[in-house]
Amino acid sequence: MERILNLIDGRLQPPAGDAWLDVHAPATGTVHAHLPDSDAADVQAAVDAAMHAFPGWVALGREGRSRVILRLAELIERDLERFAEAESLDNGKPVHLAREVDIPRAVANFRFFATAILHFASEAHLMDDIAVNYTDRQPIGVVGCISPWNLPLYLFTWKIAPALAAGNTVVAKPSEVTPYTAYLMSRLCEEAGMPPGVLNIVHGTGPRVGAAITAHPDIHAISFTGGTRTGQEIARTAAPMFKKLSLELGGKNPVLIFDDCDFEAMLRTTVRSSFRNQGQICLCGSRILIQRGIYDRFRDAFVERVKALKVGDPKDPASDLGAVVSEPHMEKVLSYVDLAREEGGTVLCGGERVRLDGELADGWFISPTVIEGLGPACRTNQEEIFGPVVTLMPFDTEEEALAMANSTPYGLASVLWTQDVKRAHRLARQLQAGIVWVNCWMVRDLRTPFGGMKSSGVGREGGFEALRFFTEAKNVCVRL
Ligand code: NAD
Repeated sequence: MERILNLIDGRLQPPAGDAWLDVHAPATGTVHAHLPDSDAADVQAAVDAAMHAFPGWVALGREGRSRVILRLAELIERDLERFAEAESLDNGKPVHLAREVDIPRAVANFRFFATAILHFASEAHLMDDIAVNYTDRQPIGVVGCISPWNLPLYLFTWKIAPALAAGNTVVAKPSEVTPYTAYLMSRLCEEAGMPPGVLNIVHGTGPRVGAAITAHPDIHAISFTGGTRTGQEIARTAAPMFKKLSLELGGKNPVLIFDDCDFEAMLRTTVRSSFRNQGQICLCGSRILIQRGIYDRFRDAFVERVKALKVGDPKDPASDLGAVVSEPHMEKVLSYVDLAREEGGTVLCGGERVRLDGELADGWFISPTVIEGLGPACRTNQEEIFGPVVTLMPFDTEEEALAMANSTPYGLASVLWTQDVKRAHRLARQLQAGIVWVNCWMVRDLRTPFGGMKSSGVGREGGFEALRFFTEAKNVCVRL
């Protein structure tokens, strides 16, 4: 059985306490590797290494750091197929999705920030003949990066890349549910020329490793992506220590469909925005609001397409959906289908565990699920399910759609389907969401600010926003 190791001070090593956890393959329900159950001692060793490496990493300069990060991107790209298979094995997603989206995006994250840092300029403020101010943006020091299981390498690198490019050294923790690709990446760091201690990866659980990173007095910034409740816990620890915090949390994203939309484009994309990655993308639209005049037409066409989706072997290129990430997660998702029924909803399709044949018989597969007949205030429509489950709700007016869209505690992403340009701009301004897609979904430009409002988070990632987060701004005022 493969043993995943920590990367600390440039060396792959077992946890100090020699304790191990199981890593499961969601498609078969079996254990495929063991993972360090690290603790505060491992985090301390990682922080020591990161502090030691910091001055050298800064001294390398932005071009030197950029070269190392670009080399790491190249090596991941060289091994793309191996990474894609590993991501699928660990997470349950179709291999083709990991090959087309997750791993190329991890490569793009490194390339993007390795080059962004070369163009990252700071401001100067001239006060007539009195003085000149300039902003000196310096790296923070040691920073912590904590990521979730849904897009494992994609979101892990989305944090690490800007942190490193900006000149910080990093103590990072991938999700204990999906640690494999972070480990494969750690095996490439030496070949990429990454100096020891610059990037440290400590594997283990949230309460042991994540909490130790959050509470460590020498880690001055925390970039976290995960659930809202975990985000609250992290904020409770980190805020009184005055750490910089970037929190990318949960969502309950609305899709607003008006009767003047391009119906076919909307339908095609809404199937994707509902069930891509088994619905386990924080940006998936889970509440579909449809203008009453086209409600029946949409519901019938949508359910027909959803029923045609193939839930199957993640290795099969024809599979649209693979397995959900874990047994507890499968049970949580299915419990929400039960809740929807109790709340008076009608399950139009799906709603069940799917039993495949052979070695996949015990895999954690769920059929894509569409529910109607529920009001916007019920728990099914308020709480994050984070699986292949969507609800349909009709609306009459723009005002009603907006009120329904904004009625949850979350505010991550919204999708808007209309051909009316004025309405699109009007609603985009009023939707309480950090990201609004008009007539599209998941079109991503890495330069744009990324993040949520309300209970979906604090701060923005992406582009220069991320480089600003991972630096400390100092104003220098020089008398003329
Ligand atoms: P999670 O909050 O359970 O775990 C995320 C990470 O935090 C893991 O590495 C976990 O080990 C760690 N962690 C857990 N407890 C911790 C603690 N007390 N202190 C420090 N770290 C701790 O989330 P998850 O189940 O892995 O991921 C799913 C959630 O992530 C969903 O809510 C989803 O919406 C959210 N998400 C948000 C975004 C976004 O960009 N806003 C992107 C992807 C996923």
